[in-house]
Amino acid sequence: KETRLFIPGPTPVPPAVAEAMARPLIGHRTEDFAQLYARLEERLRVVLGTKSDIVILTSSGTGGMEAAVANLVSPGDPVLALVTGKFGERFAELAKVYGGDVEVMEFGWGNTIDLEAVEGKLKARRFKVVLATHNETSTTVVNDIRGLGELTRRYGALLVVDAVSSAGGMEIRMDEWGVDVLVTASQKALMVPPGLAIVAASETAWKAMEESKSPRYYLDLLAARKSKQKYNTPYTPAVSLFVGLDRALELILAEGLEKVYRKHRLLARAVRAAVRALGLELMVPDEYASPVVTGVWAPESIEADRLRKEIASRYGVLLAGGQGPLKGRIFRIAHMGYVDAVDILGALGALELGLYRFGFKFKLGEGLAQAQAVLAKEG
Ligand code: PMP
Repeated sequence: KETRLFIPGPTPVPPAVAEAMARPLIGHRTEDFAQLYARLEERLRVVLGTKSDIVILTSSGTGGMEAAVANLVSPGDPVLALVTGKFGERFAELAKVYGGDVEVMEFGWGNTIDLEAVEGKLKARRFKVVLATHNETSTTVVNDIRGLGELTRRYGALLVVDAVSSAGGMEIRMDEWGVDVLVTASQKALMVPPGLAIVAASETAWKAMEESKSPRYYLDLLAARKSKQKYNTPYTPAVSLFVGLDRALELILAEGLEKVYRKHRLLARAVRAAVRALGLELMVPDEYASPVVTGVWAPESIEADRLRKEIASRYGVLLAGGQGPLKGRIFRIAHMGYVDAVDILGALGALELGLYRFGFKFKLGEGLAQAQAVLAKEG
């Protein structure tokens, strides 16, 4: 049996999406492709809460982040990078690579962005760009992008948000929140294999891109937007992934965004209840815990990655490990995209069996019972 994925990307692909991608390819310089791209933009606008122009790049999420930076940050531009984990760090690194005068605010792995501290920075100095992560996958923390957008609007900075692991799994209101550039990718809550980055940008951001002096070629967003006006791409796109994304968005919108978000929150609550019942410690408090991925401290006596390997090889359930300073110390359970209550109960059951094999003391079935209690009451 195939390994079941409970990692924060790639995530399981619905059969309907896999089937759509398996059909004969269409040419990318055709009317069919133009209609497909137009439909994708319309559907993505609904999911991201924007009326802005959206371009789709054939690259992983990092390519979308690099495109945002390459098109906005010229050498010497003041950039404020808000770091709450690995992906915040990556954004800061990118801005440095493109010559930005980058000030990094480190909030600590496991903490959220402190808006008061950010306001202090924005008051003291004029920044062209503020970089932030919506759902910090490495620490399972959600940052308050709405609150941040109020600040960047007030102080006149462009807000660029990494929504790679949030889009499709939790609410995003790009226009209402004042986000100027939003980047996401295909392989997480959007339920498509890896390979597409999605970049939405406000009118202000598109104007700023025209003035940017950094070199760019494949990642030139203005070129992508120009082609997109005819619903085309400058280079050969990953046509089958475009087709898959179209089908996945159709599924998401047919279910209804509210219902999809509610499901993610419910699964997160079930996982958290199970973890507590097992006597394990959650990475972050409920208040800002991610609805799409849950981080758990490994028991002191057990190395997280050994536990994960055991669970993967014996039960075919792949959990994610810790990254950076959390490596070997935490494991993460993703409940992102095409997962339901039964999938999560299976993953939790495998986790219990793994813990049992490592001699961890707990009552077998107690985690499952508490997860089921949440699902029975609220599901
Ligand atoms: N940002 C976040 C928040 C992510 O979770 C990821 C992927 N784990 C990325 C960026 C990078 O995306 P990719 O691996 O597709 O380049």
